[in-house]
Amino acid sequence: MPNIEYLMNGSRSIFWHRRDLRINDNIGLSKASKSRKNLTGVYILDPKLLDLELTTSKSKNWFLGNSLLELQNNWKRLGSRLLVLKGDPINLIPRLAELININSIFWNVNIEPYEQYRDNKIKKELIKNNTQVYTFMDQLIIDPSNIRTNNNEPYRVYGPFYRKWLDQIYQAKSSNDNLMKCFTLSNKLVDLKDTDLSSIKDSNLNYCINNPGESINKFLIENKFRGEHLCPCKPGEHASQRQLNSFINSGTIISYEKGRDIPSESGTSELSAALSLGTISCRAAWNGAQISRSLARNKYQLDSINTWIKELAWREFYQNTLINFPELAKGPYKKKWFNFPWQNRLDWYENWTNGLTGIPIIDASMRQLKHSGWMHNRCRMIVASFLVKDLLIDWKWGETYFMKNLVDGDLASNNGGWQWSASSGMDPKPMRIFNPFRQASKFDPNGIYIRKWVPELEHISTTDLLSGEIAPSERKYYPSPIVNHKNQQAIFKELYSNLI
Ligand SMILES: Cc1cc2nc3c(=O)[nH]c(=O)nc-3n(C[C@H](O)[C@H](O)[C@H](O)COP(=O)(O)OP(=O)(O)OC[C@H]3O[C@@H](n4cnc5c(N)ncnc54)[C@H](O)[C@@H]3O)c2cc1C
Repeated sequence: MPNIEYLMNGSRSIFWHRRDLRINDNIGLSKASKSRKNLTGVYILDPKLLDLELTTSKSKNWFLGNSLLELQNNWKRLGSRLLVLKGDPINLIPRLAELININSIFWNVNIEPYEQYRDNKIKKELIKNNTQVYTFMDQLIIDPSNIRTNNNEPYRVYGPFYRKWLDQIYQAKSSNDNLMKCFTLSNKLVDLKDTDLSSIKDSNLNYCINNPGESINKFLIENKFRGEHLCPCKPGEHASQRQLNSFINSGTIISYEKGRDIPSESGTSELSAALSLGTISCRAAWNGAQISRSLARNKYQLDSINTWIKELAWREFYQNTLINFPELAKGPYKKKWFNFPWQNRLDWYENWTNGLTGIPIIDASMRQLKHSGWMHNRCRMIVASFLVKDLLIDWKWGETYFMKNLVDGDLASNNGGWQWSASSGMDPKPMRIFNPFRQASKFDPNGIYIRKWVPELEHISTTDLLSGEIAPSERKYYPSPIVNHKNQQAIFKELYSNLI
């Protein structure tokens, strides 16, 4: 972390928001506000990251747009402003720096391959033009460079990674390192003093600067998401903090051990979009869990809190693996998976995406995703296993479909989840196959989740819902199963055993 020793009152600076859409507990913004009096915020709507076909979903863009509106108000409240521009940051950031004559820029580091490439290019250009660049690790509790094995290698397996990660956090706390504190802001920010922004001739910049808020509203109209009332993730810093407080205070965290596996209940934090786009900090999540730990009354409650902390660590693990092995973004970690003879039947894929496979738990899950932009973790594992190991469809298709629909779509976690489900990733466990009927019986024993998302099955007995053995006369328009789980499992195992 650079040492910013002196206050530069007269100089102009920018803080560039990316995956940190908040003003509270934002390391880069806190440092910038305390060392620069004259500070303006920037966010860039980057078409490469907002590509609805590949990298994002309408639900995520809805979350993003609404979070930006709140962020813009917060900047105004603090005495400055947030500019929201649209275009390629590789061109826009250096151009903006030149046009408004700034001498320093601050941002928090991103770990994804495209973002790293983008930032390196921008950094070089800025430094060439004598603009100082200050970067910080805010997206993760522990900087990946501090989580290495004794041989100075990155971890490939979650268990040892988790132990080292915890160790680093406790070390930072005991050495009085300010890592886990809440990063506050300087009370007042000052906008680009004496700079007449309206004189800027660049048409895109000029439009965005002179129509504050309008570019976000336009973006929200273009990305109209119809499922906002069904989506459990609520946009904006304020809502995310409220959601975390409620998860901690309502007792959900202390019953997480069991609650996290019941998709019909709100037994998890539902903070994934907030953590992915940074409307809440990962330190706030950790600190919330620590408060719960100090109040836990028995072993079950303590175990529940620890299990939740382990989920926060999964998020950090997948981001660590992506930064250390960026090739994961392109395909399987275990190379033999490149040779798997996928059957890739388009009609089956469409049945899967539309929740019309004839297997109730699969269809309920896929419809939850389609309508609400979110899917319960247990269900993500069930549908991913089904796509790969029953339908024999390349997991990359599933990965892309998730990104195009999830409100919390996140390259590292999504890729990690899919590689784990396909057994193509770093997970040392042998082949894992989920039986959708057994999963339904165990985790939705009364069929509440299935009936909610597949209402045409409301009248079916719970036993038949869970076994999937529904008489044709009772199905009406609901399809019969497109595959037989037992047969497909045998075919999959055979194909897999022939892989070299
Ligand atoms: C196939 C597949 C795809 C997935 N895609 C994504 C994705 O695009 N974005 C995403 O954030 N998560 C993804 N996950 C992980 C997980 O399903 C979600 O993070 C979780 O369901 C979010 O709900 P929650 O916020 O209530 O989580 P909680 O159970 O409350 O957990 C707290 C936080 O820990 C993190 N977390 C929890 N479980 C995992 C996990 N298995 N891997 C990584 N981080 C985790 C999330 O940030 C989450 O918000 C995927 C899992 C699978 C199996």
